[in-house]
Amino acid sequence: MFVSDLRHFLDLPDDAPGPARKMAEQLGNVVRAATAAEAGTAWVSALPCRRRPGRRPCPGRIIVFRPDLPARIEWRCTCCGDEGVISGWEGTYCDVRAPRPRRHDGAVAEVVVSDEVAAALRDLRLLDAECERLVFRARAADDGVVLTTDDEELDELIGFVAAEANHEPNRRRQQRLDRAFAVLSDALQAMGS
Ligand SMILES: [Zn+2]
Repeated sequence: MFVSDLRHFLDLPDDAPGPARKMAEQLGNVVRAATAAEAGTAWVSALPCRRRPGRRPCPGRIIVFRPDLPARIEWRCTCCGDEGVISGWEGTYCDVRAPRPRRHDGAVAEVVVSDEVAAALRDLRLLDAECERLVFRARAADDGVVLTTDDEELDELIGFVAAEANHEPNRRRQQRLDRAFAVLSDALQAMGS
């Protein structure tokens, strides 16, 4: 059981070793996922397990659980048994809890995207709070990753993807964003707007 206080992982110095930075990123994403969704139930997030048992990537996903009363966030891998608890997350920039539940005015749809697209969305740097919740409450499914959204929210997310693709100097990252843009735009059209 990996017991961690998120505050010890935020704002690591630039020369922090790679494993520490990777761990900080993973713990931050676990907190984003756990706070993006409703409290009180455990659910399988889109976050991949970072362990490499036998030097192969673990195929598991991270299950997250946030109790109703703000307390420690619990997480565990669906596959390898890796698990932990995170304290010290409240009020950090990884705490993305909504001030009040969002009311969906339009029709709500489930959009299935690939792991690659889901990862590209998690790496976006310019997201507003609504879109960050949309990205991090994504759930793992057999055929990919499921985003639950209405057309207005999806349209906003596509805007952020386009803006970031336009300013991305790295060609490979830009192509990844372009693919995400295409997939989400098709999904928005399918929603009939
Ligand atoms: Zn695992």
